[in-house]
Parts: sequence; structure tokens; C-alpha cells
Amino acid sequence: MEARMVDALLLDLSGVLYDGDDVIPGARVAVARVQASGLPVRFITNTSRKTRAQLLAHLRALGFEIEGEQLFTAVDAARQWLLQRNLRPYCLVHRNILGEFDDIDQREPDAVLIADAAEDFNYANMNRAFQLCLEGAPLLGVGYNRYFKSGGEVLMDVGAFIRAVEFASGVEATIVGKPSAEFFHQAMASTTADPQRMLMVGDDVFGDVEGALNAGIPACLVRTGKYRPGDEDRVAEDFPVVDSIVEAVELALV
Ligand SMILES: [Mg+2]
Repeated sequence: MEARMVDALLLDLSGVLYDGDDVIPGARVAVARVQASGLPVRFITNTSRKTRAQLLAHLRALGFEIEGEQLFTAVDAARQWLLQRNLRPYCLVHRNILGEFDDIDQREPDAVLIADAAEDFNYANMNRAFQLCLEGAPLLGVGYNRYFKSGGEVLMDVGAFIRAVEFASGVEATIVGKPSAEFFHQAMASTTADPQRMLMVGDDVFGDVEGALNAGIPACLVRTGKYRPGDEDRVAEDFPVVDSIVEAVELALV
């Protein structure tokens, strides 16, 4: 058996594989190469504007072959968190993904879930979330992501909206997606690899890189997606920075 630097690869989606509807140059071939190599690979995303089925369809439409069991989403993690605790959430989420919570009772909510609701982050909805939290409802958030890049522009992400409700209500959110170590551990646990012999690849220096490092997983930052020069200096740890997933896969498969 050939010696490898890593025993499993964790890949972020947006900004690593694609940017909106544009595939990052070389990403399709790089992912196909990893899948063909037999190296276990998991895809781990905080994206919450699409359902799991829509995400898989989007990936397929862009030419990526990914199995459902390889995909770990913060929306799924939020569902599990709520179901495990028998909570009735007020879902301040994108209308695309409302159906993902259809089987959970949402009458008289006793919890608040904030995902990337985009246009639905209006005063009435934010205020509802705030009022419930002030009355003692736990606050659940998909991630503290600051912004993401799509269709050539940077877009404000969910982090600031979660912070706003935290600030107003004095309730601290539980983050279920990246950078939560528990989320990384769920993806890790689906492989037999030792965390120290995994590699997380992402374009978000906080959510992907710092989050993985804090979970005990080596990480590498790509200069695609939301990456901006100087991002590598925004967290204290040292880690490799590569041009794109193409180079990251080279690192993983040597
Ligand atoms: Mg990303």
C-alpha cells in the first residue's frame, strides 16, 4: 500500500469546489482524483440556503460525484440537536429549507434556530427570535460565518444576525456547524482515520481552518472563494496555504 500524508480528507464546499454556479478551476478533476484514489473524503458545509437534496443536485449539476453519506451539513446538525432535545423551534431560516423541519413540531416555540435566512432577516423575524430568547429559549445557530462569495460578489452571512440576537437578548448561541468541534467530530467519526492524520481544506480561515485546528485536525487554507490576502495572519496557528483545491489534493495524495 502506498504511504500517504493523510488518511482522510475533509472538504468545505462553497469557495473550495465552486463559487456560486462557477466551478473553481481544476476542482472537478481534483475531487474525481480523490474519489478514485480510495482516500476517504467527507464534505462539510455551513451552507444553509439549500436543502441537502438541493446541495447534492447542485454538486451533480456542476459535475461533482458525491454520495449522500459523504455530505455533512450544519442544517442536518441543527435538526439532530433539536430532535435530541425534543425542542419546538422557531426557524429563522431560508424559505428553501423550511421543509427540512416539517416533521418537527413548531407550535409555541421553545427554541430559536437561526440559519442564513437572507431576505427574511427582517425586523419582525429578528424581533421574534429576540423575544423568545429573552423568555429563555435556547438559541441555535448554524455558524458565525461573516460573509461568503457567490456570483462574483461577497455576501453577508448568518454570523452577524446571530450576534445581533445574542447582543439584544444576552443569550449566547450554540453553534452547530463549523467551527464547532462537535460538527467536525461527526464527520470524522464516519471514517476510521485518526484526526491527526486528516486534512481539512477550506477558504474560511476561522470556520474551516481555525475550527478544524481546535478540533485537533490539521487544516489548509485555499486562496479561492472568500479568501483575501492576509487571512492567513488572522489566526495564531501555522498551517499551509495553497492556491486551490488542486494543490491541496496534491498535498493529501503524495
Ligand atoms: Mg467556504
